[in-house]
Amino acid sequence: MPRQQRVVRQTCPNNECQFYGQSGKGNIIRYGFFDLKRGKRRRYRCKTCRRTFCSTTGTVYHRIHRSRNTFDEVCSLSVEGLSKSIIARVKRLSWNTVSRWLERAAQAAMQFSKRRLHGFVLQELQLDEIRIFLDRKLLIGSPEQLEEALLNSEDSDTLNTSFVERHNLTIRQGSSYLPRKTAANARWPHRLQEHLDLLRCHYNCIPPHMALQFGTIRRTPAMQAGLTSKPLTFRQIFTSRVLLVLVIWTRIQSALIKQRKAA
Ligand SMILES: [Zn+2]
Repeated sequence: MPRQQRVVRQTCPNNECQFYGQSGKGNIIRYGFFDLKRGKRRRYRCKTCRRTFCSTTGTVYHRIHRSRNTFDEVCSLSVEGLSKSIIARVKRLSWNTVSRWLERAAQAAMQFSKRRLHGFVLQELQLDEIRIFLDRKLLIGSPEQLEEALLNSEDSDTLNTSFVERHNLTIRQGSSYLPRKTAANARWPHRLQEHLDLLRCHYNCIPPHMALQFGTIRRTPAMQAGLTSKPLTFRQIFTSRVLLVLVIWTRIQSALIKQRKAA
């Protein structure tokens, strides 16, 4: 009796291949294993472009030299408001490793948000600042438009910033950069931006919110908006689709760092 072949779910990560990212074409075969510190990992080969790859190629987990669980835990600790120094001490990693991982994770989270978290209609929009206190005032639109928007609003009948103020607190609690009198200020704006990208993706997709409890079911904001069917994990976000762009971006960053060191 002929041996039954198991279906290979991998897709070709080579963007120059005609079957790039397409599943079910029969072009991917299993191609042995390669050794890791903790054992071995399956290698795959595309019969069309003859390139070999593994299940982490093109994802944030590619060549991290630690387990994927450790990477996910570092991301979870970061969005719980711990600084990179604390995470490095707790997880016994170097500060540079934590920083590099979080940079990768933020890029993947931003790509995921761009690809998946769009296409829903806003019912209400609140704007606020996060550093200094200002009076509430109308900056966009006319008083008539505001009155009409308040009439259609499900949540409030007056101009208020209560929801966004609560959201500000959530952001402050989820970042080591933003609490008042923190010792871990962001030295570069792009570091803060990267962390906020990761935090936004986590907030929208991973933890179910108490305010979104309906009976026994708790939803994430992405579920409530109809964009996902269940709470996601960092693993699902980081492996949702092979991101060759991310690999290219990481290589460019490494080359730039080498150039800076050489200069
Ligand atoms: Zn290919």
